[in-house]
Amino acid sequence: MADYIYTMELRLTPNQQKGVTLVQDVARNAGMNVYLTGGAVRDIISGFPIRDLDFTVQGNPLKLQKEFERSGAIIGGTEDDLKVLYLTLPGGVRAEISPARTEKYEKTGKPPVIAPATIIEDLRRRDFTVNAMALSLNPGSRGLLLDPFNGAADVEAKLVRVLHNYAFVEDPSRLIRASRFAARFHWVLEERTQARYESAKENNYIEYITNRAIGNEIEQLAYEDDPLNVVRVLEKEGWLKVLSPHWTTAKIDTNGLSELMRTRQQMNELGYAPDPAAAVLHFLTAKLSDKEVSDIRKLIPRKDLVEAWRDISDHAKELAKRLSGKEAATPSRTWKLLSNARQDMVLFLAVTARQQAVEQKIKNFFTKWREVQQKIPLPEMTELLITPQLPEYPKIAEEVFMLLLDGKLRSRTERLNFLKPLAPPPPPPPPPPRRGRAAKAAVQAQPQAPLAAAAKKGKGKDKGQAAPVAVPPAKAPEKTKTVVPAKAPEKPKAEKPKSSPTKLKTAQKKKAPAKKPSSKPKKKSKKH
Ligand code: ATP
Repeated sequence: MADYIYTMELRLTPNQQKGVTLVQDVARNAGMNVYLTGGAVRDIISGFPIRDLDFTVQGNPLKLQKEFERSGAIIGGTEDDLKVLYLTLPGGVRAEISPARTEKYEKTGKPPVIAPATIIEDLRRRDFTVNAMALSLNPGSRGLLLDPFNGAADVEAKLVRVLHNYAFVEDPSRLIRASRFAARFHWVLEERTQARYESAKENNYIEYITNRAIGNEIEQLAYEDDPLNVVRVLEKEGWLKVLSPHWTTAKIDTNGLSELMRTRQQMNELGYAPDPAAAVLHFLTAKLSDKEVSDIRKLIPRKDLVEAWRDISDHAKELAKRLSGKEAATPSRTWKLLSNARQDMVLFLAVTARQQAVEQKIKNFFTKWREVQQKIPLPEMTELLITPQLPEYPKIAEEVFMLLLDGKLRSRTERLNFLKPLAPPPPPPPPPPRRGRAAKAAVQAQPQAPLAAAAKKGKGKDKGQAAPVAVPPAKAPEKTKTVVPAKAPEKPKAEKPKSSPTKLKTAQKKKAPAKKPSSKPKKKSKKH
């Protein structure tokens, strides 16, 4: 069996990695075996973005709720009969914890009979081969891939393949899932799966879909990276109206949705990771009636998502109001307000804001104001030893940025006047190195040069350019003394004594007589 530990760590985001460790530790402490399963494993292997983490434990996940809450996770909902736990792990990582179970379908449209099972038995109840893999998170086998149906090969071949002939009959929601995965990944249904799919469609098995499955499928649309593409495919296949009878693409605010996904991309590029799920549902159902929306909300298993969706417009209005008030009177205040606001709200408001001033502020936050960061006066800061090594550097840089945003610190004098009191004291001079005579002489000679230069400069300046240059020189010589020469004296200490002209001379002197004796004259004289 292959070891996927490295692939897993490479593919998960740092927050997802922390999430895996957290779930693994909580399950282990409760004595439960735990596996990463389903879509997360498929996405790790296929290279597609990992949207959420599905775990399977051997035991009852509902018993772990308190421990998860203590570890900083938020419980997003539960399915008590199936004992499924929906979590948001620290860092906004969505997770689902299910018990390993078998599902026996006795009648189409009726919920299956459930029983605790081993992980391999659990994989057998899954929908498609690519979703029927597990990665062990248990000591001794961590990173081992369990792939009893050759899902990895189907990932490679880009195929959606059911596990057995009755897959669509047992649970017709798999028809919608097959279309969704094929649309998202641009994969195709494997030949026999396609035949079963057509036959199930013809026989209208979809009418046996459960409300639970409908709710789950609607929720999954909220997490799609390209929801419009998926919804169009679902509409074409006739599945959109299964999710809600009057739902068509005409009921979607397509412009809003496209703008939302574009802005989300832009925010991602700037390093933000807003969760667009609630906003996606808002636009997907924009033109459905209140009753239809309320019916959909009742079916969605994650209650925290439903709440976020319900409140999104009110929260956006509140943020818009704050952006129009005193709290955002200057660019720097607006920057702070938008930086501290919930990023999913900023995203939603960026798309829905109707007041021009609010729109402009958000636009500036994403574009123009970021360019001001390029204007941070790094040369002056370096000159004053305000460098990233200083613990207070981030705070100073932030303050400078805020002032620049508000149009201050335009001239060098203004910048230096602001920065000088924040500059650290110069470091103490280095201890006097042990020097050879020549090195001593060199170092003794050094300070005179800047002094002489300063004297010269002083003479010249008295007559003309006084103010601008008069500010830095007070510290400039110190800088040359402390920063540059701090190392300079060591060089002569280390190198010069060996090759110092004096020693060379002595060496030559000593060697000289040794060569001369070879002077044959003496020997000759002996011979003679
Ligand atoms: P996504 O990337 O859309 O989240 P996913 O595969 O993780 O894909 P989920 O709906 O979160 O989809 O389901 C998690 C896992 O549970 C699936 O990978 C699959 O193994 C199993 N599963 C979900 N729905 C079904 C179903 N109707 N029949 C069988 N197995 C299912």
